[in-house]
Amino acid sequence: MTTRFAPSPTGLLHLGTVHSALFAWKQARDAGGRFILRIEDIDTGRCLPEFETQILRDLEWLGLDWDGPVLRQSERMEVYNEFLHVLEEGNLVYPCFCTRKEIQAEIAAAPSAPHGPDGPLYPGTCKHLPWQEAKRRMEEGEPYALRLHMDRAVGMTGPLTFNDARFGEVTVDGLSCGDIVLCRKDTPSSYHLSVTVDDAMQFVTHVTRGEDLLHATSIHRILQTLFALPAPNYHHHGLLLDEDGQRLSKREKSMAIAALREDGLSPAEIRALAGFPDEE
Ligand code: GLU
Repeated sequence: MTTRFAPSPTGLLHLGTVHSALFAWKQARDAGGRFILRIEDIDTGRCLPEFETQILRDLEWLGLDWDGPVLRQSERMEVYNEFLHVLEEGNLVYPCFCTRKEIQAEIAAAPSAPHGPDGPLYPGTCKHLPWQEAKRRMEEGEPYALRLHMDRAVGMTGPLTFNDARFGEVTVDGLSCGDIVLCRKDTPSSYHLSVTVDDAMQFVTHVTRGEDLLHATSIHRILQTLFALPAPNYHHHGLLLDEDGQRLSKREKSMAIAALREDGLSPAEIRALAGFPDEE
């Protein structure tokens, strides 16, 4: 068994993410398997090396150890690009020139806007652009994103499911996610593309992560199938809540491990607060 913890260094490690880390670490260690650490830092505008350094320090201080080197997604853009080419060759992507503002305006003007798990779906403005026009605009240097042609992708994969230790056999619903972005000018790969590629290339057999990412797994199963990559097992765990039933991550600052440590809490106390008290 191989599990992984894949934080994005956009902030400090907090109790909610430590819960995820310990969840994956414990599964691997209990099974005598491998636990790997991957830094998901493709969004260079939001990820900071200082956060990465602090995350690694906090994990070590908490007593977690990992196998093999830490993989950094920002160093693997060429690999993601190769996979993107596979989709381009298969006519499964299209360039989208819309700005976020234009998309919002289009959605606001529409009589009804279908919603997906992450909000309103892309209305498809650029999906039907004549190829000559799209080509000309790309050649003229207009910034664009590449979107997955979701209906074509779903047509190619046919019906799919994935196995989740908590939710059982889950039916993949790609259409409800819409034409997701696979790369942008400023971020040459997306979370969905890189996580799918890396979980397979790092031979992760059990993907454990918070249930807030359950819907994303539909997208990952579709990409896995298009790339002929194996499907791992999944375990989307519950999220740590505070006394008021709010997600802890919403109070990120007060729950940062660095702050708790300064308050004098020990690693064992923090592990217990993150849902993993030491076994007697
Ligand atoms: N990098 C993602 C995050 O920090 C986690 C992705 C995953 O576990 O698949 O939210």
